Amino acid sequence: MAAYLEIAIVPVGVVDPTVMGWLKQDLPGILTAGVEELPPLPLSPRHFQKERNQYLADGLLADFATIVHPPTALFLGVTEADLFSPPMNFVFGVANTGRALISTFRLRPEFYGVPSNPEVYRWRVFTEAVHELGHALGLPHCEFPGCVMYFSNWIGDTDRKGPKFCYRCGKRIERLVEMGRG
Ligand SMILES: [Zn+2]
Ligand SMILES: [Zn+2]
Repeated sequence: MAAYLEIAIVPVGVVDPTVMGWLKQDLPGILTAGVEELPPLPLSPRHFQKERNQYLADGLLADFATIVHPPTALFLGVTEADLFSPPMNFVFGVANTGRALISTFRLRPEFYGVPSNPEVYRWRVFTEAVHELGHALGLPHCEFPGCVMYFSNWIGDTDRKGPKFCYRCGKRIERLVEMGRG
């Protein structure tokens, strides 16, 4: 029997329900998984840094460990808040074992001063979600710029790579899913 993955997606703070709906539809196309949406979690003000107007990504991620246990499903938090993770002054997302968090803040075309484009926005959300879930499953970065596990330094990297794993990362993901669930 093929390994089966459960992914729990969770809005962190107020998140456009359309975005959560996209993830529910899109994620099973790449990761053979059941996707369930859990009730929202608050954006903890403890991790807000007023002078930067950003949340500390690692702080929010660490909180998930206290909320969700045991991790029977991969956990993906989604926030509209801007995130940073020293030494990087912003991140599209973060992950540790079993848990991931993405920010939509810098994925909207409008952020870059161009007209809104739901297709582009959806593609970016999907790509960053798969990337962070890949980390949550144990995959490192990949040097192939067309692979979803390539490190995105800026939004152009995200647009180029898209949500698909390269052959090698795809094989590794299959093995990791089997190890985790077998
Ligand atoms: Zn990464
Ligand atoms: Zn790869």
